[in-house]
Amino acid sequence: MLAVAAAAAPALAAEPFTPATLDAARSIRERALRDDTGYDLLRSLTTEVGPRLCGTPGDARAVAWALAKLRALGFANVHAEPVKVPHWVRGTPHAEVLAPFAQPMVAVTLGGSVATPDSGIAAEVLPVTSLAELALLPENAVRGKVVYFGGRMARARSGMGYGAAVPVRGRGAGEASKRGALAVMIRSIGTDRDRVGHTGGMRFEKGETPIPAFALSNPDADMLEVQLASGAPVKVRLRDDSYWADSTMSANVVGEIPGRDARGEVIVLGAHLDSWDLGQGAHDDGAGVAIMTAAAKLIGQGTPRPKRTIRVVLFANEEFGLSGARAYAREHAAEAGKIVLGMESDLGAYAPTGVQSRVATELLPVVRAMTDVLAPLGVPLTGNEATGDADVGRLYDLGIPVFDVNTDASEYFDLHHTPNDTFDKIDPAMLRLNTACYATLAYLAAEYDPGFGRAPRPAPAAPAAAPAATPR
Ligand SMILES: [Zn+2]
Repeated sequence: MLAVAAAAAPALAAEPFTPATLDAARSIRERALRDDTGYDLLRSLTTEVGPRLCGTPGDARAVAWALAKLRALGFANVHAEPVKVPHWVRGTPHAEVLAPFAQPMVAVTLGGSVATPDSGIAAEVLPVTSLAELALLPENAVRGKVVYFGGRMARARSGMGYGAAVPVRGRGAGEASKRGALAVMIRSIGTDRDRVGHTGGMRFEKGETPIPAFALSNPDADMLEVQLASGAPVKVRLRDDSYWADSTMSANVVGEIPGRDARGEVIVLGAHLDSWDLGQGAHDDGAGVAIMTAAAKLIGQGTPRPKRTIRVVLFANEEFGLSGARAYAREHAAEAGKIVLGMESDLGAYAPTGVQSRVATELLPVVRAMTDVLAPLGVPLTGNEATGDADVGRLYDLGIPVFDVNTDASEYFDLHHTPNDTFDKIDPAMLRLNTACYATLAYLAAEYDPGFGRAPRPAPAAPAAAPAATPR
């Protein structure tokens, strides 16, 4: 009777993992909780390389650093895959209120901004809260003004406030330029009250005249808004000398823990090697680099070797247009069928709050068996709506199943893209906890013989949804 029931049940109803595999996964999890490979890597990256904006000398140093570290840690097939990246050179911003109450403001230049004239731009401020509000204004209201976007980012455990707030950073200047604005200021896309601006990427579309764009620190944005509320015209002076240099070469850096299976299938663990230039890129995304490298290394230290290869991909230039991820997806499209699963760490080394998968619903019992091993860490399966995040999301576009490990991002956007994203902000216990999650999941994915098929496509996005692939 038992035999009949077992034979009649769908294959997936059987235990997806043997007791020995589950034991090995628990052992990897426990070793990860005692292992500081990731923390040591991050200390090294933030100290010996530091800021590594694409196209800069720091970027080239980061590629050399990653190749050397992966080799030193015993990874196989360590190599760089060249990627063309943009090269923008940050200038020195100057921002001040001229009237009604003159005083200086703390601002940072947004990545991709262009210089002002040497004498600067002095003009009246036109406040709006969003791109939608700007779009409702007649052109003669905007022409000759400095447009100020005052929308505030909401603090949230999921980090969801970022997607809602960030469109003005990417497109505020382009949309304002189309209507004749001279420059743009935004309230920083961040949740802190520190007197630092949050930089980030922006882009102009074909036919738009590039104009300078700045992010004010939140306290300076507050002060500006009080002046605007006085009802008197508010006039500011802005100056900057940023410029575009020629595109240059960077690289995706790859290293593998070879699997024992001859099919050549791989699990991709991704993070981005580049960072913004103002801090050390500690949480964003040095932490991801450290977590994924350490996770793969821990799997490689177990016996036997994993069935499938664990491939670490450290992507070039996530921050300024996803150059590395786009190149990787293009150049590896032919082997997409062999990439069984992708995961990415790019939401800071904070407490993991849950795992999302993106697999066919019949496979959810398998995912649940995997996340059950994370139960002692307090990390549950929270849904099947994973996106793979900015870089590995480009693999999801190819139909590759993805898992996301979400973190408590409540504090992440206090320091994101600021000078305060430094190594001292990293809690080694949280780094180990993230490493334990990815290592456990990657190991079990490598062992799950049938694989995860192809990822289901998402339901059609609601019209107001944030654009996909927002760089983090
Ligand atoms: Zn990032």
